[in-house]
Amino acid sequence: MKPRCEAYECVDLAWLSRGGKFDDQTPRTWKYSGGGLEITAYPGPWAVELHAEGHIHRIVLSYTETRFGGRRPWFSCPHCQKRRRVLHYVQKSLACRACFDLRYTSEVEDALSRAARQRRRLMQKVGGSDPGGDFPLKPKGMHWKTYRAIEAKAQASLKAFALGVARMGPR
Ligand SMILES: [Zn+2]
Repeated sequence: MKPRCEAYECVDLAWLSRGGKFDDQTPRTWKYSGGGLEITAYPGPWAVELHAEGHIHRIVLSYTETRFGGRRPWFSCPHCQKRRRVLHYVQKSLACRACFDLRYTSEVEDALSRAARQRRRLMQKVGGSDPGGDFPLKPKGMHWKTYRAIEAKAQASLKAFALGVARMGPR
């Protein structure tokens, strides 16, 4: 599952330049369905200011020549500086899809390894050695209450792990 334009708010330069002009400094407002978010764009020749949730994001523009002697504007991604037509707005920051995909993937990977480490630790507490194996039986001398609590935590971390794997999706 990857962030997509439908699931996350995005800003499309093609939309800004609808009607041929985009640097006439006429503000345009995007209204997104659902969350009630609005992004207002104040276009200028070298940068577009995007106002969202009380913050101003200044997006630098660059141009490439077209074959017919015109110029084509591009957003410069605030994160990787690459030329982009579409920027995504996720958790109050703007970046291109590739940048968000990278961050998203590493966050899921972090959650996965955290869950795996936690499960290993919990298994060791009850005498287990194989983190991928079955949950060990209650060790002699351990209170049932303690054992059940560890078992519940291990279940939760297994669930978190499975969820993380599901979110990673096909690579
Ligand atoms: Zn980027």
